[in-house]
Amino acid sequence: MVRDKKLIVGNWKMNLDTNEASLYLHKLAGMVKMRRDVEVVLAPTLLALQSLSLQIDRRQFKLAVQNLYWRDAGAYTGEVSATQLRGVVDYAIVGHSERRHIFGETDKDVRNKIQAALRNNIRPILCVGETASERADNETNDVLHDQLAAGLANITSDELTHITVAYEPVWALSNGKDFASHPTPLPEDAASVAAFIRRQIDHMFGKNAASDIRVLYGGSANSHNASGFLGAEGIDGLLVGGASLNAQEFSEIIEKAHKGSAVAKK
Ligand code: PEP
Repeated sequence: MVRDKKLIVGNWKMNLDTNEASLYLHKLAGMVKMRRDVEVVLAPTLLALQSLSLQIDRRQFKLAVQNLYWRDAGAYTGEVSATQLRGVVDYAIVGHSERRHIFGETDKDVRNKIQAALRNNIRPILCVGETASERADNETNDVLHDQLAAGLANITSDELTHITVAYEPVWALSNGKDFASHPTPLPEDAASVAAFIRRQIDHMFGKNAASDIRVLYGGSANSHNASGFLGAEGIDGLLVGGASLNAQEFSEIIEKAHKGSAVAKK
């Protein structure tokens, strides 16, 4: 079952050029042990995907694209389609809050992108999460409900098995550098949100789907708080931004995911 493995995703955002990404990967590969119980996914700049896909050992790391366009081909200047990414990446981050809030991506765009990824054999990681003001107004559940209902509309139960949901409260995301000191939810709060997400999946797709789907936490995850989130009920891994750019920090997070699942299996 897919939830037997912890999933750790490093989102490098718009950092590291092609050469830097290659050097970083080389360094990280020397630090990260291959573990059967942890899957590590890297999301570099789009520009580096092709070269890193030749450099990586896919038993150690997989690749994700940070965004894609939902049409397969055509007159869409500047866009890259899932069809073009097929075979290069295993995963696609879809609906990241920076895409939603800075680039005006709508729930309909998110839905279309999920479907495009699925029809091209790419596993979507659907990001959902409330802003600070939505949280202050007690709207977290409403926001998550709407994002899940819209993002997963028209998906079959079979397709859902290829989808991961990442709970990323927008107010907890670091600016890339302050990930060690930025406010985050408590692990038990992330666990209650994961339970809400599973209830929502239950309403839409049934009990089995709800217990099988992977739910990640993202927002200023670092080597100090990783074990807490990874041990929280219903959390199957982490989406890591700022801390994934520091090889030492990121490799420690990966090691904690392994140690946590080793303890859980005892
Ligand atoms: C993100 O933006 O997906 C993220 C998790 O960032 P950070 O870890 O830096 O908060």
